[in-house]
Amino acid sequence: MAQLNNGVAANVTQKQPLWLLAEVTYRCPLHCAFCYNPTDYDKHTKNELSTEQWISALRDARKMGAIQLGISGGEPLLRDDIEEIVAEAHKLGYYSNLITSGVGLTEKRIQAFKEGGLDHIQLSMHDVTEDISNFITDTRTFELKKKVAGMIKAHGYPMVLNVVIHRYNIDQVGRILEMAEALGADYVELANTQYYGWSLVNRDQLMPTREQLNQAEAATNAFRERVGNKMKVFFVVPDYFSDRPKKCMNGWGEVFMIVTANGDVLPCHSARVLPGMTFPNVRENGLEWAWKESPAFTKYRGMDWMKEPCRSCDERENDLGGCRCQSYLLSGDAEMADPVCTKSPNRHLIDEALANSQKPQLREQPIIFRTDKNSKKYVEGDKERIEQFHALP
Ligand code: SF4
Ligand code: SF4
Repeated sequence: MAQLNNGVAANVTQKQPLWLLAEVTYRCPLHCAFCYNPTDYDKHTKNELSTEQWISALRDARKMGAIQLGISGGEPLLRDDIEEIVAEAHKLGYYSNLITSGVGLTEKRIQAFKEGGLDHIQLSMHDVTEDISNFITDTRTFELKKKVAGMIKAHGYPMVLNVVIHRYNIDQVGRILEMAEALGADYVELANTQYYGWSLVNRDQLMPTREQLNQAEAATNAFRERVGNKMKVFFVVPDYFSDRPKKCMNGWGEVFMIVTANGDVLPCHSARVLPGMTFPNVRENGLEWAWKESPAFTKYRGMDWMKEPCRSCDERENDLGGCRCQSYLLSGDAEMADPVCTKSPNRHLIDEALANSQKPQLREQPIIFRTDKNSKKYVEGDKERIEQFHALP
């Protein structure tokens, strides 16, 4: 019989959700052009789970083996119960990470997080210049973010910065890393934009050139050589510039589970874009059923769903055919090899996107920022810009 440790089976042999991402709200004071949240998030802002429902979901996921908890959004700090959720997560034995823009993090709150046992805070930064940082978020938050970075450091947390990279800041990567060093960062993730949600809508504007990408990677390597182990820098290579796709979320329903603001349970952030799928919801379904039995989680788990060329490909175990959402969003076929793959019959869609992003008339279109107003438009069926993609809802 399994031994229990904090309510967790110690010798679980079956696939289990090791990571739980709690997207506690879609509300956000920022309006980032690259936000991966769904463009129609507005329809999920009025039916957020209650504190009790979140705590119950945390408890259930922990019983199933989840150990890493990400608390994200939107901006999680827009909820006033994060202290309570964090403290409960600590009691349950989670390693918890608050993923925040920094807006709303006060001395009082960070002290409460420390006392409640929050393990980690990940702060987003956007550029070394105030202009670009404020432009891309469509807010005036640059100075505030720097202040928050100091506060995180002063409370003894490791300083973890996430910087989304795109055409507007990619030439500044060296200076961004110097800024991070000056802020006392321990880890910096340079996350090249992946194109989902709002970033897909703004893809032509955000996509850098291959040359810019190479230069940014060289600047990152030069920085690494200079600082050594003092600061860890992760450079996440963008899909579109690769020949092979990534193993999405380490495999559909393998280790990762997301509970969204309204309680939907998803195997990945974007899964709701897929057609003909009904996702479980914690208000009606237990997490265990969602994970083990729900059609949504079992549909793309493993490799049985694959068709050619993935089915007979000797690389299929490495990448599991890539991302189902990216395949559907770009080609309209969720079961085809991710278009990033050069063996996919849809690779031309990636090459066209790369070429289009260099056309001045496309890349100079105005950005559609992630605002409630714009999201409402998408909910109402206004397909501005989005209609150029084959399969978006
Ligand atoms: S990416 Fe920007 S807009 Fe989107 S949730 Fe994060 S802070 Fe808010
Ligand atoms: S054909 Fe499919 S399995 Fe093979 S490398 Fe491409 S995406 Fe991966």
